Amino acid sequence: MTHGAPRAERLTADLARMVAIPSVNPFAEPPGPGHREEEMAQDLVAHLDALGLETGRRDVAPGRPNVWGRLRGTGQGPTVLLAAHLDTVGTEGYPDAHAPRIAEGRVTGRGACDMKAAIACYLEVVRLLQEGDRHLPGDLLIAGLCDEEDQMIGSRDWGSHGPAADFAIVGEPTGLAICPAHKGQLCTVIRTEGVATHSSRPELGVNAVEHMAQVIVAFADLDAALQSDGPAHPLCGHGRFSMNVIRGGTIASAIPATCALEVDRRFLPGESPEAILADYEARLEALSDRLPDLRATVSAPTLLSGALDTPQTSPLVQALVHATAAVTGSPARVGAFPGATDAPNLGCPAVICGPGHLEQAHSCDEWVAVEQMEKATQIYLASILDLMGQS
Ligand SMILES: [Zn+2]
Repeated sequence: MTHGAPRAERLTADLARMVAIPSVNPFAEPPGPGHREEEMAQDLVAHLDALGLETGRRDVAPGRPNVWGRLRGTGQGPTVLLAAHLDTVGTEGYPDAHAPRIAEGRVTGRGACDMKAAIACYLEVVRLLQEGDRHLPGDLLIAGLCDEEDQMIGSRDWGSHGPAADFAIVGEPTGLAICPAHKGQLCTVIRTEGVATHSSRPELGVNAVEHMAQVIVAFADLDAALQSDGPAHPLCGHGRFSMNVIRGGTIASAIPATCALEVDRRFLPGESPEAILADYEARLEALSDRLPDLRATVSAPTLLSGALDTPQTSPLVQALVHATAAVTGSPARVGAFPGATDAPNLGCPAVICGPGHLEQAHSCDEWVAVEQMEKATQIYLASILDLMGQS
């Protein structure tokens, strides 16, 4: 038997219910009111249970679980994972962020496109398989992961402990483009240390802020240098560097003893974070030749997430390309995802492809078109059948 079409009313009902659960990432704080990743996880497990999947849960941190459901296959096929993060970014300046609105073919609210829409699609995939009496030879895994928006502890844990899969699709909002690659992200803090003194006698101190100014000059050419450095990655282009937060000094009448600069480096697949940090050290070293009293250090990474580089020849990419062309009637768009995601942490070849657009993600008017969810559901279903040799 074949399967039916995705049903808009089921997709919107699932998504609206999930948008109403405020699963804002707690970031550095413990989870509490408004930070209900756990409730999102319980909601997902309840629905996977109701569909008859074998469900599991693993607490990565207190109140911060990964959860999954397994639709067991009948034979020897590959295990395909549909993964999504359970958390969202915050809602500052976004009134009624958790009061979902369904109108004009859209579902609106925090998390709608990033990325609860994908979870609604995953549930619909299971329902369509069951209603069509399709029994897959391999297992289908559906996972809800915690903490993507911060340190990605959920997907990191999945990679080392989570049920293993052969292929993973991550339904982050790509507007149904297929993204088998993205850059990695390395954030660090450069600190200068000086000697505080009264600003009436600056020569008695060492000015950490003025030293940081020299550090900034020493790093000012780095982003441009990356643009002309070596061959571009076919999808990701070149690496990027930016200096984004600075803190130093205490009062205007004192020579500052400390200054901290937070820098962000987006690196290409194959680039090593260690080499990037070594380059930072070398730049500071060269600067201290000119400034003998400079004391500058580079911190350990404050954020490090891996690059993704699934070959375009992978059966997973090919399955998505074929499915997307068949569902949308136009050639699939293959490109790099702009940001970092859970995908490189999952322990198997992974591709990002999902409903909705990044322009709406993290904004104060977050929405997803129901039509995108219907198409995403069909694309996932066709890709899973292809990967399992069932198309
Ligand atoms: Zn996301």
